[in-house]
Amino acid sequence: MNGKLVNWDDAKVHVLSHVIHYGSSWFEGIRCYDTAKGPAIFRLDEHLKRLENSAKIYRVDAPYTITQLKQAAMETIRANKMKACYIRPIFFRGYGDVGVNPSNNPVDTVIAVWEWGQYLGHEAVQDGIDVCVSSWRRAAPDTFPTLAKTGGNYMNSQLIKLEAMANGYTEGVALDADGYVSEGSGENIFVVRDGILYTTPLHSAILGGITRASVIQLAKESGIEVREEQMLREFLYIADEVFFSGTAAELTPIRSVDKIKVGNGKPGQVTRELQNKFFNIIRNGEDTHGWLTFVYD
Ligand code: PMP
Repeated sequence: MNGKLVNWDDAKVHVLSHVIHYGSSWFEGIRCYDTAKGPAIFRLDEHLKRLENSAKIYRVDAPYTITQLKQAAMETIRANKMKACYIRPIFFRGYGDVGVNPSNNPVDTVIAVWEWGQYLGHEAVQDGIDVCVSSWRRAAPDTFPTLAKTGGNYMNSQLIKLEAMANGYTEGVALDADGYVSEGSGENIFVVRDGILYTTPLHSAILGGITRASVIQLAKESGIEVREEQMLREFLYIADEVFFSGTAAELTPIRSVDKIKVGNGKPGQVTRELQNKFFNIIRNGEDTHGWLTFVYD
């Protein structure tokens, strides 16, 4: 916390911190995997670069360099003697003025680590999940910048997630302001149709997911054609395969959308192939892309 190791119970902020009132934070969600070759963080540099960019969009200079944050993340994991964990670096506007103007509030930095299992449930990665199209849309491009991973954006995500769960679904998929498919509350979305892999483009109000970029790369390397295209809602209904990607969700197959079965209702061949390639990296530590940072080396 601001450069020091602080015990979990002592890691506190003042109730009048700017972030609590106005959602002013920029953060990352990163996983450290206990691979066969030792604990390793997946794409740490790319996550920290995105964090720096998220802050930059809001005219904030990152309080620490990527090299410092990288070192601090590793030290925090080592101090906790963890093997597999979730890593949450966050910059936030702290205690100062209470008004909306953030200029006189410090930018505090925290890196927290904790053990965290499968995000969408135990069987999700294996069997797939049931999702709905949300009645909540993602924000229009000139409202909330979605390429910034910032606290306030997750109020929209919470509406999507809560509505989906209230209606018996595991997750919701939001449309963008123009009515095209955007993404899940915390996941990017992919569709397979006639052997081609489609995903929504950055301008469909998505966060530029690091898992998304990895999936695109792995697919291209496997000779699968990838298209980043605006997607009509009904494209989800007539797809052969649909899946989510994300640090928390990893690669999670979607078996139905609005109670319409995707393909035959089972995870498809392309989904399985990409899951296997992804899991080979994070479970076996087979890293030919330079995506893993080994923590205890
Ligand atoms: N979209 C949103 C809204 C998210 O919160 C996340 C999770 N960070 C993603 C997509 C997936 O991004 P990544 O693969 O970098 O975790």
